[in-house]
Amino acid sequence: MTVDTIRISRVAAPLTALGPGRRAGIWVQGCTIGCPGCASMDTWDPSGGASRSVADLAGQILELAAEHDLTGLSVTGGEPFQQADAVVALIDRVRDGWSDTDVLIFTGYASAAARRISRELWERTDALVSGPYRRDLPSAHPLLGSGNQVLERITSRGVERFGLAPGPTRMQVSVAEGALHLVGMPAPGDLDVLRERLAERGIRIDGVSWDDESAETR
Ligand code: SF4
Repeated sequence: MTVDTIRISRVAAPLTALGPGRRAGIWVQGCTIGCPGCASMDTWDPSGGASRSVADLAGQILELAAEHDLTGLSVTGGEPFQQADAVVALIDRVRDGWSDTDVLIFTGYASAAARRISRELWERTDALVSGPYRRDLPSAHPLLGSGNQVLERITSRGVERFGLAPGPTRMQVSVAEGALHLVGMPAPGDLDVLRERLAERGIRIDGVSWDDESAETR
């Protein structure tokens, strides 16, 4: 089934903290999995964010790819497999104009469950990070939010580009539309430490996305 719209939280580029190379990132809106400690609670509400035309969003990504000489597309959220048909339509349109991009998808489902939900999306994915976030299981891998998650290189392009060694995580910070966005994989507790350190300097952050008060990250 082809769909014409997709509900997203935001788009950002260029990113270097959400996969190898220089990337565009899309945060889809809506997730019902509800991992305790999720850093992206602002993306849970399926009626939040904004509905975008798939064609317009693909055009925006292609412009960003040309402008920033990007190498790949990361799709996170939110839960991409809960809008699988829309993400499939988006990837197809993006690849029509950007054939050498790789596609990295973050899902809270196990890989086999994601494949059952949408074989079409799973097969378009070069690399898949799968599994729910577990704040009690720290990870030493730059793309895994917790130690139970798995990075699976599905295609030959995924094998070629996603042989990432364990190592320090990267974080990016940007300010857009009145919100501070942190991109990357913070270790459990890091965001609260950041908030406490800023508070010690007299900088107070309200409405964060990693507790029940709401707002931005991942
Ligand atoms: S970590 Fe991902 S899968 Fe889990 S609740 Fe947050 S957005 Fe959903």
